[in-house]
Amino acid sequence: LASRDFHPSDTVINIKGVEIGGEQLVVMGGPCAVESPEQIDEIARLVKAAGGQVLRGGAFKPRTGPYSFQGVGVEGLVMMAEAGKKHGLLTITEVMTPEYVDVCAEYADILQVGTRNMQNFDLLRKLGSIQTPVLLKRGFSATYDEFLNAAEYILAGGNPNVMLCERGIRTFETYTRNTLDLSAIPVLKQLSHLPVISDPSHGTGRRELVVPMTKASVAAGADGLIIEMHTDPDNSMTGDGVQSLFPEQFAELLVDLEKLAPLL
Ligand code: PEP
Ligand code: MN
Repeated sequence: LASRDFHPSDTVINIKGVEIGGEQLVVMGGPCAVESPEQIDEIARLVKAAGGQVLRGGAFKPRTGPYSFQGVGVEGLVMMAEAGKKHGLLTITEVMTPEYVDVCAEYADILQVGTRNMQNFDLLRKLGSIQTPVLLKRGFSATYDEFLNAAEYILAGGNPNVMLCERGIRTFETYTRNTLDLSAIPVLKQLSHLPVISDPSHGTGRRELVVPMTKASVAAGADGLIIEMHTDPDNSMTGDGVQSLFPEQFAELLVDLEKLAPLL
């Protein structure tokens, strides 16, 4: 079902009038984690002002260590839904277990499956049983075939609203947190009809690389971007401040993308 052979035309996912996979480039921006109502409200305002369409933010965080901040939970879903509504943005948040799918879907417009859960088959099956759009991140060691098979689980369950996200893979390089696999963008567009989103934030782990890799992703044919942005990245509650853009950088980047679009 994920294959281009099965479905030759591009899948376009329409969420409250925002089309993902169509003509328009979709930008999802926001903090790694929802921290407080004030934080998410201010960032939502800045995402909207810059021209973004979707507010990102994790309420449930998949941390490598059990003692790290795990997210604010359901309260974070409420904070983000309110900020999204107030500023006229769609929202995307990560869901980690099948049990939390329904409550996350109640509050968010798009559900994110993180890289560590790409092959959490119970989670994928549960997401296949609803119609809420899903952004499926590529596992950091997954081949394209494994990635598309993970998408297949959701599609096979009856949910056609799946977008694929390249977020960097693990390589021998340690300078960057991950290696953003730019080739994945055209490859996935060729093999599949599903929208392809790039995550240059987790894909590099370094703020100064997010702008160039965003532009490269757009040139490679990405349908959208998911970018971390924070008003006070040095004091953010996850370690992802180092890869978060400052609001001014985010706004400038979106202006540059507008200029890039007619060239492609
Ligand atoms: C995130 O989006 O903050 C995140 C944890 O992403 P990933 O699953 O790609 O590491
Ligand atoms: Mn993050």
